[in-house]
Amino acid sequence: MKIIKKIKKMQTYSVSLRKKGMSIAVVPTMGCLHEGHLKLIDTARSHAAAVIVTIFVNPAQFGPKEDFSKYPRPLRSDFALCRKHGADAVFAPQPDEMYPADFSTWVEELALSKGLCGKSRPSHFKGVTTVVTKLFNATLPDFAVFGRKDFQQAKIIGRMVRDLNFPVKIVLEDIVREKDGLAKSSRNIYLSDNERRGAISISRSLKSAKLAILDGEKKIGTVRKNIVSEIEGGGGRIDYVEIVGSENLEPVKKISGKTLIAVASFFGKTRLIDNIEIVAGLARDRNSKSEYRNSKR
Ligand code: AMP
Repeated sequence: MKIIKKIKKMQTYSVSLRKKGMSIAVVPTMGCLHEGHLKLIDTARSHAAAVIVTIFVNPAQFGPKEDFSKYPRPLRSDFALCRKHGADAVFAPQPDEMYPADFSTWVEELALSKGLCGKSRPSHFKGVTTVVTKLFNATLPDFAVFGRKDFQQAKIIGRMVRDLNFPVKIVLEDIVREKDGLAKSSRNIYLSDNERRGAISISRSLKSAKLAILDGEKKIGTVRKNIVSEIEGGGGRIDYVEIVGSENLEPVKKISGKTLIAVASFFGKTRLIDNIEIVAGLARDRNSKSEYRNSKR
């Protein structure tokens, strides 16, 4: 497995793969890899002849009071995990090469980025779309794999790729969870034992909301109130609980069709996000209800 730190070297390597007729799948990450990331790498493997994992803690997507400097960077063990999962290369650039002092060009999506995390983290998605553009230009992929854990991010990148005609196919993977339902996240290691116990309330409340909706609950207010009270009962502080259309991410007035319930909440100083998709009123979802009810999530 190659470890590449310079942008030009990355481009030269990707061009050489393409000249050999090999397709490339990229998995953009900020490192501190867990099973969620590893699933994305495995999916990338199944799509292309060569897999490139990028590891870059992107300063441009952190707000001034956020955890950029303390974000975990266990590079050596990340490299070992990438190797174990059959990555051909890891691209781990340096911030000063990615963002020279006079950097002044940004890529911004202006519709899907407005709500949800975009409200509480105003320049976050501008940082994400800009860095993903740069990572695409460095790795020249045919496929890029993202997780539904960051549902809004995945939608924004899909829109950017369409709007700007990137020749990249976006592949999405489902959320990987701990046994008790908590969505895996690099930030879970910040949680104290007590916060970790309380944080289960996020996925539990989303699962209950889905079941209630499948049982016929249509009132947004009731669904929202129940989620808020379950998370607050677990010791969390709500950033947002939003019920939106899965495609346009606009708040819905009543639950019908493809709906997303998205949550961001703080446990201590740690901000956690999670979401659940619901296809309300469709036989497919109704049929899978008992199966879903019995699942571990
Ligand atoms: P991050 O390193 O947090 O920037 O995430 C890199 C990629 O991994 C993004 O596409 C995330 O959506 C995805 N990811 C993070 N956590 C999970 C998870 N628990 N399940 C699936 N994908 C995930």
